[in-house]
Amino acid sequence: MTKQIIPAGSDPTAIGEISVPPFARLPDPTVLFASRAQRFAALALGHQLGPYLNFLAALAGAQHEIQDDLPEPELPDPETLKRARDYGMPPLDRAKFSHVAALATLEKLLSAASAIDKPKPAAEALDRLIGAGSLEQEHRMRNVLADAIPIEDLAQHVYVAAALQVHFARLASRLEAGALVPVGDGACPACGGPPVSSVIVGWHGAHGARFCACSLCATLWNYVRIKCSLCGSTKGIGYQEIDGGPGTVKAETCDSCRGYVKIFHQHKDPALDPTTDDVATLALDLLMRDGPYRRGSFNPFLIGY
Ligand SMILES: [Zn+2]
Ligand SMILES: [Zn+2]
Repeated sequence: MTKQIIPAGSDPTAIGEISVPPFARLPDPTVLFASRAQRFAALALGHQLGPYLNFLAALAGAQHEIQDDLPEPELPDPETLKRARDYGMPPLDRAKFSHVAALATLEKLLSAASAIDKPKPAAEALDRLIGAGSLEQEHRMRNVLADAIPIEDLAQHVYVAAALQVHFARLASRLEAGALVPVGDGACPACGGPPVSSVIVGWHGAHGARFCACSLCATLWNYVRIKCSLCGSTKGIGYQEIDGGPGTVKAETCDSCRGYVKIFHQHKDPALDPTTDDVATLALDLLMRDGPYRRGSFNPFLIGY
């Protein structure tokens, strides 16, 4: 059972504690995937999804390892970056990214993934993807970037999404956080991607502030609380959680767009991670399925559940 929580009483914004949070925090790909690997492995212990979480831990390990051998990613030129900023567009344009660089990242990831323990369907998908030509691989990249992963071909897209996460996190990390501007509700200010979830952080100077996390490049962007991170509505926002849960993971529901996005109270439990814990809290999504709200966030590792 999920239980309905009244936002006004139970999810107070501790305004007094918030100074001025930064608008955006860029990812650090040199630690991002290594810490995801650790978190996936920790969450796998005694978890119903244990084998899958262990596979994702190994995949995150591969995402970390391959970076040493990759060339410096190429950012758009300064004029393009300025134009994007002036027009409130994300500086990393998903439609115009370099397929050559992304394919090189994919090739390295596929080779690293060959060595990891995986379920049989994941092994077969890996073989098919390695055997596919670059045109087919590019086609799958476009599916991931359009947040439109075909259900019958999920397993191959997990690897493609993992490679794109590395590619875009490396690009985003080279942007200037202070130059990012809001580009619209539910969109990452660096790459335009949808949120995977949101977190209430315990950072010094921003304690209690909420950030949405990008499902692709892992940029965090500040977003006021009790506001739908999909459509921006501040009316009809509610919170649901699993009965008897720790109170640190909730689904923020919106009566305007009928969507929900998970919110993690990282200030109460610093181990909570927007991407890995989103997968590990699948039980909340399964319960939400019985209700009127659809999952509005995107996580390539959770498609198909
Ligand atoms: Zn992004
Ligand atoms: Zn909404």
